Order: sequence, then structure tokens, then C-alpha cells
Amino acid sequence: PTGSVEVITGSMFSGKTEELIRRIKRAILARQRVQAFKPRIDDRYDAHRIVSHEAVSVEAVAVGTSASIEERVLDETDVVAIDEAQFFDRGIVEVCDKLANRGLRVIAAGLDQDYLGRPFPPMPELMAIAEEVTKVHAVCAVCGGPASRSQRLIPQATTVLVGGAESYEARCRGCFEPRDVPR
Ligand code: ADP
Ligand code: MG
Ligand code: ZN
Repeated sequence: PTGSVEVITGSMFSGKTEELIRRIKRAILARQRVQAFKPRIDDRYDAHRIVSHEAVSVEAVAVGTSASIEERVLDETDVVAIDEAQFFDRGIVEVCDKLANRGLRVIAAGLDQDYLGRPFPPMPELMAIAEEVTKVHAVCAVCGGPASRSQRLIPQATTVLVGGAESYEARCRGCFEPRDVPR
């Protein structure tokens, strides 16, 4: 088979993980062999599952690096799913590319922007090499419009702050305040 890379991207709460899980479940229904991975850093809910904000989940392996995804992919695997791809090293781009070249279907979900609205490496590169990019949108917590950005609600000036509704809310371009603490 000809492989491909699919990217699912958008802000926090936009349904990236839900969409990833939906595609994984459909691949399993089609009797495809699926392996799912997530970064070890994302231990918000469960070390062995990909879990959406709605608490829907599928089994996954938590790994520390992109190289360890490559090592773990089995010969018989048809589909590789990766959640929170923005937390992986830049090597993830080459790993996804190689797997797709070998004929696998690679589906990667991740944030396109950080808490200041800046492109979140390595997602831009991943989006560039992908056959298909799906941008999903949350509901803006301020105005109810389609949200594309993740507003940080607590002060912390580091790009990586793993958290949920207590630390972030979804906002549209107009309501987004790209600072550490909203007014
Ligand atoms: P992501 O992986 O993009 O962070 P999830 O797939 O885990 O998102 O969760 C999406 C779910 O989050 C939605 O189905 C909804 O139930 C819930 N949710 C909470 N806040 C919002 C919001 N502001 N906009 C959209 N969905 C939200
Ligand atoms: Mg998610
Ligand atoms: Zn808004």
C-alpha cells in the first residue's frame, strides 16, 4: 500500500484527540493493525492510554523520543497514531516520513500554536510533509465563536505547561490575549 501522513491540529479543546480516536477506531473496524503513541510528558490522565477531554480513550504506549516510536513499530502494523505530537523532538518529522514511505498510514495530532500563538515546533514541519491537514476548532470561551488559540490562564513563562481546563481556555483570534496572564 502507499502510505501517507495525516495531521490533525488546532487549539486546546478543539477535539484533536477525539478525532484521532475516531480515526483509530475506524481503522480497527477495518481490521487494520494500529499502534498508538503519546509523549511520556503528557501524563495528565493515564500513562497507557490516549484520553480525550470527554474521557474517551484508546490504548497507547508512552515514549520519550521519536526514535523510540520508530523502534517500537512492528512489521505487521498498518497504522501509527501519535497524540500530542508537538511534545516530540524534531526527529518526529523524519520518523513519520519514513513510516509513510514504508507504506504505513501515519496519523499525528498536536497543537499548531503555543500559548503565545507562535507556531509550535515540530508541528509546522509535520504539516508541511503531510498529505492531509485537518484543522479543528474549539468554542471560544469568551464569545462562543470558533476558537483557534489556547489562552493560558495562570502565569508561567515556559512554553510547556501540561495542563487542562484549570490552566488554559480556548479563544478565537479576537479574544486571544497573548500574554502570560490575561487582564
Ligand atoms: P484536544 O485534544 O484538541 O485538546 P479533546 O478531543 O481532548 O481536545 O476534547 C474535545 C472535547 O472538549 C469536546 O468534545 C468538548 O466536550 C470538550 N470541551 C471543553 N471545552 C471546550 C471548548 N471551549 N470548545 C470545544 N470543546 C470543549
Ligand atoms: Mg488532545
Ligand atoms: Zn472569541
